[in-house]
Amino acid sequence: MNAEIIAVGSELLLGQIVNTNARFLSEQLAEIGVNVYYHTVVGDNSTRLKDALALAEKRADLIIFTGGLGPTKDDLTKETIANHLETTLEMNDAAFQSIKDYFHKTKRIMTPNNEKQALVLKGSTVLANEKGMAPGMYFSHNGMHYMLLPGPPFEMEPMFEKYGKTAIEKALGRKETIHSRVLRFFGIGEAQLETEIEDIINEQLNPTVAPLASDGEVTLRLTAKHESKEIAGEMLDQMEEKILKILSPYFYGYDDTSLMKELSDRLKEKEITLSVAESLTGGLFQSEFTNISGAGSVLKGGIVCYTNEVKKELLSVSKNTLSIHGAVSEPCAKELAENVRELFKSDIGISFTGAAGPGPHEGMPEGTVWIGIAEKGKPTRTFLLNLAGGRNANRIRTVKYGCYYLLK
Ligand code: ATP
Ligand code: MG
Repeated sequence: MNAEIIAVGSELLLGQIVNTNARFLSEQLAEIGVNVYYHTVVGDNSTRLKDALALAEKRADLIIFTGGLGPTKDDLTKETIANHLETTLEMNDAAFQSIKDYFHKTKRIMTPNNEKQALVLKGSTVLANEKGMAPGMYFSHNGMHYMLLPGPPFEMEPMFEKYGKTAIEKALGRKETIHSRVLRFFGIGEAQLETEIEDIINEQLNPTVAPLASDGEVTLRLTAKHESKEIAGEMLDQMEEKILKILSPYFYGYDDTSLMKELSDRLKEKEITLSVAESLTGGLFQSEFTNISGAGSVLKGGIVCYTNEVKKELLSVSKNTLSIHGAVSEPCAKELAENVRELFKSDIGISFTGAAGPGPHEGMPEGTVWIGIAEKGKPTRTFLLNLAGGRNANRIRTVKYGCYYLLK
């Protein structure tokens, strides 16, 4: 089976959004052994969508559409397909009920055009939308397979993973299904990680092991194929054990978690409070931390101490430290962490001070960062980073290292 992905939306052609749906679907289809030969992008225009569809039918067995399933006039994907295949749309009761429930839950008034969203192509299998309203669809017609998915990635991705993939595997007559697990690592580069588990990667067949690096982190996606979900789970467990025997110092969590999320959970569980002194990160740590719900029981507060004046006056960093060692120094990170902890009366105080770039700061090269961690009843720990990512990446990585050291 080979597939073509047709992303529908004028905003894609205008360059206002990036076609991440095609990237996601291609990755997912590769996992189940379906080749993707073409990505097409077409605007919200019925004639051109029909042309794209006719072309795709000549060169693919499976056509996946994303976008244009919404309630507005420019959403015309299913109407165009129905017209092209000379079939009709019919009301789907379950989808209609779930749209009504959605409005009830969000206390909004349902307008007549919302009913349109519950119309599905005649004879199609409905793919439930657990994050929004428009249902997805799968159907086959004259030996061709068609799948319609909503545009918003947060609706489309879970729908495809949960229902879309299974529908395709069923169409392929496969009994075995795919089970994945993502292992997340920090503090190790992709090249080093691959070298450390080179033998495992070279021998892999089932489960497969695929590394991916982004934003200073590396993930390994393990994918097992088996008819039985339990056995696939055991296969993943065994592979995970083999990998973690080598890489456990860098491992921090599974699937969609993040360093911040793990940190927040850990501190909450242990009822530990935190305060923060941020120089080069300018509040980024606190912003990310408060993005996670329930941060209020952990984070007491913090100070953005960008200038030496604020370091001195609000956080009592000594004159000597600033004049002899400078702001980008171990003693400064230590005093900031200890003093912010005292000021906010928290269990832990963490500090970030460094030269984000561009260029050196107080004579320290760009990317030099000191992190301090002061904890009640323990000697204060300090960490030196030598980053090389440019201003923005340096700030983001500094925050991630802060989480990583707090988790250690
Ligand atoms: P809605 O009910 O939200 O209107 P829809 O199925 O009609 O959903 P569109 O109107 O085409 O989808 O797109 C809605 C939003 O989804 C877009 O504004 C964009 O943010 C996102 N989106 C659509 N297509 C893509 C794509 N190919 N890649 C990434 N994001 C997309
Ligand atoms: Mg829309």
